[in-house]
Amino acid sequence: MSDRTLLLAGNWKMNHDHLEAISAVQKLAWALEDAKLDDSDCEVVVIPPFTDIRSVQTLVQGDKLWLKYGAQDVSQYAPGAHTGEIAASFLSRLGCSYVVIGHSERRADNHETNEVVAAKIKAALSAELTPILCVGESLQQRQEKSHVEFTLGQLEESLAGFDAGDLSGLVIAYEPVWAIGTGETATAADAAEMASAIRTRIGEKYGEPLAQTTRILYGGSVKADNVAEIVASADVDGALVGGASLSGPDFAALCKAAV
Ligand code: PEP
Repeated sequence: MSDRTLLLAGNWKMNHDHLEAISAVQKLAWALEDAKLDDSDCEVVVIPPFTDIRSVQTLVQGDKLWLKYGAQDVSQYAPGAHTGEIAASFLSRLGCSYVVIGHSERRADNHETNEVVAAKIKAALSAELTPILCVGESLQQRQEKSHVEFTLGQLEESLAGFDAGDLSGLVIAYEPVWAIGTGETATAADAAEMASAIRTRIGEKYGEPLAQTTRILYGGSVKADNVAEIVASADVDGALVGGASLSGPDFAALCKAAV
């Protein structure tokens, strides 16, 4: 059992408008209370679309809920002439704690390279947001057995230019692309293998203290009925959850199953 706090982060992707977001967060808070969970058990984070963040902030801060929240992406740029972008400082001013960076859907749909991902991590850190850096291989890479090498390569390139002092608090989500939104889950052994490889590589590059404090999540079709087995691995510190985080009661059931 590690000292790392279990983290369950719900990535809503492009689901729930700002009214639906209020209802989803209220139901999540009630269901967590019914399940008798609190922040001594785990950290629960909701990651809604940008347009919902203000609503979530009002609810969480107004009702003094223990939930945290974050954003699904951030601009690499400082505020200025970048139409359509959202600056890291805007997110921290809205009370966001976390920001997902390098999700495979953004890498695929928006051609985000590891270089862009590194620039976004830099922007997030400068605004005191905690990045949740996503890495993970395609089905082909897994079949070719190059999944560990590929994922560690993504990790290293996405963290190029940082030193250990910059990265304290960083969260890494191992998300095999073939398991996201497909109903296919990596086995607990697959998740454990990669989480261990990631932790070892962080130790080699940045030293053991950072390796031992960095939280590593697994993401890819995690549900209430498979989360316990996945987080039972010593190196897996929680889950990044898509579909199963959209309903408050379902996400609370997943959190309950994980603790
Ligand atoms: C995700 O969006 O990061 C994810 C893991 O999605 P799902 O749980 O739906 O596979």
